[in-house]
Amino acid sequence: MKLKISSPLPSPVDSDSENEIPKGFPQTRIHSGLDPNCRSTIPLCPKSFSKVMKSIDTFIFDADGVLWLGESVMPGSPRLIDYLVKHNKQIIVLTNNATKSRAVYAKKLAKLGYNSSKMNKNNLVNPAAVVADTLHRSGLDGKRVYLIGEQGLRDEMDELGIEYFGHGPEKKQNEEAASGAFMYDIKLEENVGAVVVGYEKHFDYTKMMKAANYLREEGVLFVATNEDETCPGPNPEVVIPDAGPIVAAIRCASGRDPLTVGKPCTPAFNYIRRKWNINPSRTMMIGDRTNTDVKFGRDHGMKTLLVLSGCHQIEDIIENQMNERDDMVPDYVAPCLGALVPETNQIYY
Ligand SMILES: [Mg+2]
Repeated sequence: MKLKISSPLPSPVDSDSENEIPKGFPQTRIHSGLDPNCRSTIPLCPKSFSKVMKSIDTFIFDADGVLWLGESVMPGSPRLIDYLVKHNKQIIVLTNNATKSRAVYAKKLAKLGYNSSKMNKNNLVNPAAVVADTLHRSGLDGKRVYLIGEQGLRDEMDELGIEYFGHGPEKKQNEEAASGAFMYDIKLEENVGAVVVGYEKHFDYTKMMKAANYLREEGVLFVATNEDETCPGPNPEVVIPDAGPIVAAIRCASGRDPLTVGKPCTPAFNYIRRKWNINPSRTMMIGDRTNTDVKFGRDHGMKTLLVLSGCHQIEDIIENQMNERDDMVPDYVAPCLGALVPETNQIYY
């Protein structure tokens, strides 16, 4: 899988009218051409999107690479949201980033110019919220959580009264660490009901060792936020490992598979269905990654749209088609959200 952080996008202003697909963008269905039975992907323009929109009640948006890129708004995206709100569509934001709480992301959306009446904490989902909900529903019977994760997980668990420990830098005795003596006498806490693993910048060998040892008890739940390999950043030359490599390390060390809640896994879908009672066949998942966003939508019966403003590009769609990964081939593709706003002779950026 080739991951690209960014690429030059054809600008919607290059199109002659709202009825046309931007110049430089595929004008017809995207198809590998090798297998006539493989799924094809339809490029969307404002006019075709407005037709597709009629069969959709709920739009679920990924955030990074779709609504924002790092700390900057994705140009044109707020206008597409306003357009959908005007047409009484339900908006849900589903990010795989658990480092911050929903409340913090809601503030970020407002700061970036998004409609705060339709895009607030109550319209947001992230793995931190789903993890807290999962633990709350599973009933920890007063047991605590060993946590490898950032502030977002702490905030969401605090909200549901879940007790946790272990986050932050390990307090190692330098001599002990240097001699390796800590390996023979690891100090484990009592009364642990779950190990929760997400991205944490302080993740290290000691945390991996503690997690693996807590997970020796079969009754201890192993819950992961998400398994994204990397996350997009402002410098395309720099690889930024996400939660996936950390989860992989603990999976390997413990010999156990986690219940992963983020996209493309089902707990996030169940959370959304419980909260909003969505009809998947009238719901569209929009994201910038084929292996999380598109797969999440396809696996759960939704329509899918890949925007090329983040990670994956058209060659990734073709690669999935050639490898018969239909679950990662989107129904539709567009350069970015702003390219779908139906306004003739308007500058989108
Ligand atoms: Mg994304």
